[in-house]
Amino acid sequence: MKFEESAGGIVYKKENSKTLILITQHSAHHGWVFPKGLIDKGEDKETTAVREVKEEGGVEAKIIKELPAVEYFYKFEEQTIKKKVTYLLMEYTSGNIADHDWEMEDAQWLEIDKVEEKLSYKTDKQVFQKAQELLK
Ligand code: ATP
Repeated sequence: MKFEESAGGIVYKKENSKTLILITQHSAHHGWVFPKGLIDKGEDKETTAVREVKEEGGVEAKIIKELPAVEYFYKFEEQTIKKKVTYLLMEYTSGNIADHDWEMEDAQWLEIDKVEEKLSYKTDKQVFQKAQELLK
């Protein structure tokens, strides 16, 4: 079986009394997910997460805490791929979500209470619950 490892960010910002979460819509499968990507050779997951948040989410963010990794399987050209994804809880520092690249067809700041129902995948909902506990 083929293995892949990615890293990404669950990015938040506090605005007045609200907590907003950065969520993106994948251009290929159209699901709502957090920005993430494959860890390049020689790269650590922190660097990948910061890079992917900038590329796919359009913003800069600083790392607060690593969240428990999630795993899922998918099929590509008849091959089953096992994927491990580590998300880091990150705080927005600057930039504009309108500057996200083509890999995502949309990026939004969503109120924290609306995020779980919007997420497309169970594993993302699970890791988001952990992030939410830390943000309480
Ligand atoms: P990366 O962002 O890590 O570079 P990618 O965008 O090429 O990867 P994935 O987001 O892993 O690829 O999507 C590959 C396949 O896995 C798609 O068919 C997608 O629908 C599915 N997928 C994505 N995230 C999940 C998940 N959390 N659980 C189950 N299936 C998922």
